[in-house]
Amino acid sequence: MPSSIELTQELVRFNTINPPGAERPCAARLADLLEGAGFAVELVPFGEGRAQILARLGGTETKLPLGFTGHIDTVPLGAQPWSVDPFAADIADGKLYGRGSSDMKSGVAAFVTACIAHADRLANTPGVLLVITAGEETGCTGADALVSEHRQLGKVGALVVAEPTGNKPLVGHKGALWLEAETKGVTAHGSMPEKGINAVYKAARAVAALQEFDFNVARHDMLGGATLNVGTIHGGININSVPDRATIGIDIRTIPAQSHAQIREQMTSYLGPDVALKTLLDAKSIWTDPHHPWIGEVLQVARDVEGVDNGLGAAPYFTDASALTPALGSPPTVIIGPGELALAHQTDEYCLVSRIERATEIYSLLILGWCRA
Ligand SMILES: [Zn+2]
Repeated sequence: MPSSIELTQELVRFNTINPPGAERPCAARLADLLEGAGFAVELVPFGEGRAQILARLGGTETKLPLGFTGHIDTVPLGAQPWSVDPFAADIADGKLYGRGSSDMKSGVAAFVTACIAHADRLANTPGVLLVITAGEETGCTGADALVSEHRQLGKVGALVVAEPTGNKPLVGHKGALWLEAETKGVTAHGSMPEKGINAVYKAARAVAALQEFDFNVARHDMLGGATLNVGTIHGGININSVPDRATIGIDIRTIPAQSHAQIREQMTSYLGPDVALKTLLDAKSIWTDPHHPWIGEVLQVARDVEGVDNGLGAAPYFTDASALTPALGSPPTVIIGPGELALAHQTDEYCLVSRIERATEIYSLLILGWCRA
């Protein structure tokens, strides 16, 4: 069995840039390791060359298993040249370099290693359920597919999401609602605009209105306020025609007090009948009461292992928990992983080797705490 560092290196060496993802070989390697350790493993196909994993070990009638989740796809390399080989997983000065090293192959390697290390002792205990996804970076498409195909995911008693947090426990994250607003017009020759209806003018009015939009919701203590950003605008085909179609991409980040269905309704009436809305992505916010006893335990373990008290936090980004937490029975959910958030999606991405070792230790202690009869 490789160490968590060696396993991170192995995983980084699989090119799983999404799109297209091509996670299958990487997933198959993890499935082999887990199967070899006695896990019941399902390698779930997810389109051409892609796969996800459900792996279970242990289980009792009286207590639900502890869940771990992470994704094995990565974002593209970006436009900037790298100073290291992004797929070599070389270690220098205590840093393991490569695409996906922080986000989040180190996290997956750490919980897989921790679970395998305890595999012999998990029979007749609540045990663990591992959900290793593909397609996270393009809007949780893998997790959504697992949930919507009504696969027998089962329930967990608590869920660990190993996304990059520098091993600091986060008790929630914002949700995301991505909308496409479309306006329609009537095309005409650009020299006779009075004969047409300009869809770009309608879109421009919508954009100006969106800049003034107020969610009218109180700020969340830890997550802050809801936000809205117009990320894209497209309209018109050529300069000498009246455009008959325009689209606007709206990125809304929400807090737990908000319902996405209500926001959509609110948006529809706010923008009026000239604007048609389509939902591109609907990822719920996640929140666990910081006073929940298991959160207390995670905080204690993280503090003991890291040797500093970083307290609890919350994340602005969303994770697969948006789909998985509700599907797994809405258990308390914590986001904690060895990667550094600041390095996720960056050129020359790396993860600190010491963080990977400590994350493995944190996950080990959480498994022991959960499965102690
Ligand atoms: Zn991630």
